[in-house]
Amino acid sequence: MSVTDVLTVLIALAALGVSIRSMIVSSRSADSAAASAEAAKESASEAGTMRRIESDRRHEELVPVLPAVLQATPEPHPRLKGQFSVFVEFTVERDYQVRAWAVYEQGESPLSLPDVVAAGSTQRLYIETRNADEGLHAREVRFAFWPAPDHSWGCACPGVTGPAEEPEGHWTIRRSLSYTPPPGAPMW
Ligand SMILES: [Zn+2]
Repeated sequence: MSVTDVLTVLIALAALGVSIRSMIVSSRSADSAAASAEAAKESASEAGTMRRIESDRRHEELVPVLPAVLQATPEPHPRLKGQFSVFVEFTVERDYQVRAWAVYEQGESPLSLPDVVAAGSTQRLYIETRNADEGLHAREVRFAFWPAPDHSWGCACPGVTGPAEEPEGHWTIRRSLSYTPPPGAPMW
């Protein structure tokens, strides 16, 4: 082998070394780019998870607070002698849109309420009319609540909301009824 041939081989080997090194470097930088993209994705999903936890917590904080059992009260019916209008009352801490239903063994019946209940105002819900000594047919009341339509406050949930979008309510609350019928008229 001549000196020229040796030099040619050495130059070729050096060039090969350079190209191998550059392949290694570029594959490393591709790896680190992928790793940093992965890290960015992770921190974005962590931020997403944190936001979701925060909005879930806020959603729970905004649930209307109602007693565990609603006390149903009879009052003499204004026209029907010997009959009683049975009602429950409730108060909420902020303005809500609301709807309510009496829940029976079979089916439900809508109850009369204003569309929006104001913070601190006592709402009276008439459930049904019963005779003295007669128990209630309704088992519970189902409420559907939504944030107030004037946006004076809101829930952080995505896609909030109103009766048209969420017919079951942004918050659904069921409460059983406690009822003692008034004594009947003496039988003579
Ligand atoms: Zn919500």
